Amino acid sequence: MSESAVAGLLSVAQAMEILDRTPVAPRVVRMALAEVAGLRLAQDLVADRDYPPFKKSLMDGYAVRILDVGAGTAVELSVVGEIPAGASVERTLGLGEAMAIMTGAPLPPGADGVVPVEDVVKLEEGSKVRIAGPVPASRFIAARGSDCRQGTTVLRTGAQLGPAQIAVAASIGAASVKVFAAPRVAVLGTGDELVEVGVDPGESQIRNSNTPMLVALLRRLGCQVRELGTVRDDLELIRSALRRGLEADALFVSGGMSMGTHDHVPRLLSELGVDLRITRLRIKPGKPFVFGVFESSGFGVRGSGKSLEFGVQSLGREVASVPNQDPSLLSPEPRTLNPPLNPCYVFGLPGNPVSAFVCVVRLASRLLARLSGGAVDERWLTGRLEVGLPANGPREFYQPAIRDAPPGGKSAQAGFARITPLQWKGSADLFTLAQANALIVRAENEPPMPRTTVVRVLEI
Ligand code: AMP
Ligand code: MG
Repeated sequence: MSESAVAGLLSVAQAMEILDRTPVAPRVVRMALAEVAGLRLAQDLVADRDYPPFKKSLMDGYAVRILDVGAGTAVELSVVGEIPAGASVERTLGLGEAMAIMTGAPLPPGADGVVPVEDVVKLEEGSKVRIAGPVPASRFIAARGSDCRQGTTVLRTGAQLGPAQIAVAASIGAASVKVFAAPRVAVLGTGDELVEVGVDPGESQIRNSNTPMLVALLRRLGCQVRELGTVRDDLELIRSALRRGLEADALFVSGGMSMGTHDHVPRLLSELGVDLRITRLRIKPGKPFVFGVFESSGFGVRGSGKSLEFGVQSLGREVASVPNQDPSLLSPEPRTLNPPLNPCYVFGLPGNPVSAFVCVVRLASRLLARLSGGAVDERWLTGRLEVGLPANGPREFYQPAIRDAPPGGKSAQAGFARITPLQWKGSADLFTLAQANALIVRAENEPPMPRTTVVRVLEI
C-alpha cells in the first residue's frame, strides 16, 4: 500500500492512546466466593486474625519441652494426652512429659518443640516414648502470626482471583467479595454472504467464522458474551441489531466496516448516536477498524430499562460503578474525565478474520482489561528470527509466527526461542493464523530484518 493511501489515517499508537484515555466505569458487584474465579477484586481484603491463629504443630508427633530433650542424651517421657487438629488444650506440659499431637493442632502451654512420630520409640504400649534427641527449639512449630499478621492487607483492589487468591479470601472469612463484574459483551456478524456454522453454504456463501472466534477470544479476555447472530447487509436489519447490541457494555460488530457500497456499519453507528473516535488505522491487517462510544442520550434504549439478556450466569448484586482511569492517561479536556452513565463501547471489526483477530488482541483488549478492573495485559516474548524478513510497508504489520521454546529448556544456558514467521496469504487466511502462537510486530516502514535478529512477539 502506498504512503498516499495511508496518509491521514491514525497510527496504532494514536489509536491506543484514544482507547487508553477513554474513561471506563467497571460495575462493582458483590458475589459469593464460589462465583468469582477469574474476576478482579474491587476491595482490599484484610486478615481478620493472625495466621496461623495459634502456635501450631507442623508434624504428627509429640509435643515436648526443650528442657527435657535439648541436651542430646536419650530421654524417656510420659505421654499425658493427645491433641488432634481442632482441639484445644488447657493443661500445661510438665517436665518429663510429652503429648501426642497431630499436624495443625495447637501446642499445649509449656511445649516448645515437636518430635516427629518417626523419631520416637513407643514404650509400654504408648504410655511412654523414648527420644534420642537432641531436639532443636521451635522445630516443626509455626508461631502464631508467622504466616500473616492480623490487619495485614492480603489482597488489593484489582487482584485477579485465581485459585490461591480465592483460598486466601476463604481463609479470612470473606464468604462474598466485591468484584468488578465481567463486561457484558455482544457480538454481531454482518454480511450477505454469511451463513451460520450449522447451515450448508451455497456456492457463493461462507460460514460465519468470526462470531465463534470472537466469542472464544472475548471469553478468554474475561467477558460474558451474548451472540446476536448474523445479519445481512440490509440497513434496517443492521440498524435494529445494532440497537440491541448497544444495550451491552461493549458491542463487537464484524464486517461491513470498509468503503464498499454495502458497508453500512460506521454510518449506521454514527446515526444511532455512537461517537466514532477511531475510523481506519495504519495497521495491517485491520485497516477498517472502528471504535466509538455510545452514551445513553443517543436514542434512549439503555435508559429504557430493557436490557439485553445475558443468560443464567450469576451477575451478583450491583454495588457501584467506579471510574477506572489511569490518572497519567487523563486527557486535559474535561469532557473525557467523567465516564458516561452506562456507556457502550463499540468495536467495529473488519470482516476478514485475521484482521478482526488482530484488532481485538491488540486494540480492544486494552479497553476491556480496564473495564474488568485491571490494567492492559499483553504478553510479549522474545526470540531469534529463523528467516529474514523484507522491509515493512507504511502500516504497522502483525505477522503470524510460531515461537518455539528455547533449546535447552529453562536451564541457565538456555538459548533464545526460535521465531518462525508463517507465510500467510493475507487477512482472510485463518488457516495460517491457526498454526501460529505469536504475532511478530513490524513498525511502519521498518527496514529488512536479517535472520537471527532478536525480535519481540506478542503471544496469542
Ligand atoms: P467486509 O469487511 O464485510 O468487507 O468483509 C471482508 C471479508 O471478510 C469478506 O471476504 C467477507 O466474506 C469476510 N467476512 C465478513 N464477515 C465474516 C464472518 N463473520 N466470518 C468469516 N468471514 C467474514
Ligand atoms: Mg461485508
